[in-house]
Amino acid sequence: MKTVENTEIVSEIVRNWRHAGETHAFVPTMGFLHEGHLSLVDLAQRAADRVSVSIFVNPAQFNDPKDLEKYPRSLQCDLTLLRHRGVDLVFCPSTEEFYPRDFQSWVSVEALTKRWEGAGRPGHFRGVTTVVSMLFHALQPDFAVFGEKDFQQLRVIEQMVADLKFPIEIVRGTLIREEDGLAMSSRNSRLSFESRQKALGISRGLLNAQKAYQRGERRAEALCQAVQRELQHLPGVAVQYLACVQEDTLEAVEDVPDGVPCRVLTTVVVDGIRLLDNMVLNP
Ligand code: AMP
Repeated sequence: MKTVENTEIVSEIVRNWRHAGETHAFVPTMGFLHEGHLSLVDLAQRAADRVSVSIFVNPAQFNDPKDLEKYPRSLQCDLTLLRHRGVDLVFCPSTEEFYPRDFQSWVSVEALTKRWEGAGRPGHFRGVTTVVSMLFHALQPDFAVFGEKDFQQLRVIEQMVADLKFPIEIVRGTLIREEDGLAMSSRNSRLSFESRQKALGISRGLLNAQKAYQRGERRAEALCQAVQRELQHLPGVAVQYLACVQEDTLEAVEDVPDGVPCRVLTTVVVDGIRLLDNMVLNP
């Protein structure tokens, strides 16, 4: 496994793969890796001959400097995990490499970024789409794998790739949970025992909503109420948004229509830690 910080060097490595007729799948991450990330690596391996992973905590997507400062990091551990998983190339650019002093160009997706995460975190998605564009240009993959854990992000990237005609196929990875149901996230490492017990209300609530849907409930309000019930009485827990949305447009629905894929999307702040989760209603 090669670990590279320099953009020109990674570009040369992937060019050599292409000249040898090998396909390449890429997994972008911010590190502090867990089984959710590694499940994407496994998908990448099934999709292509070569696999690259990037580890870059992208300052441009953090609207809160304290959140950026507290973001967990563990490069050596991450590299060991990736080596064991058979990854070919890890790209870890420095902040100076990606954002030199005179940096002033941005990529932004419009309608899909207005709501949900976008509404509460101004500039977040612009930071994501800009860095992903830079990574795509540096690595020129045939496939790029993104997790459904960050469902809005996944849709925004799919839109960007379609609109800007990146010759890259986006592969979706399903959301991986801990045994107790909590959606795996690098941020979970910051939860105390008590905070984690409260956070379990999120996945319990989402499962309630899914079960209610399966029993025939179609009203979004009732489905969201099934989630709220698990969270509303907990101290230190604030639901930032909670909605039943169409997967394609991410627009909220009042009644879940038959035959149109929909999900419940939510972000809940538990003792100051933002936790994203979502659940399919009608697979
Ligand atoms: P991050 O390091 O949080 O930027 O995430 C990198 C990629 O891993 C993104 O495509 C995420 O959606 C994905 N990811 C993070 N957590 C999970 C999870 N629990 N299950 C599946 N994919 C995940």
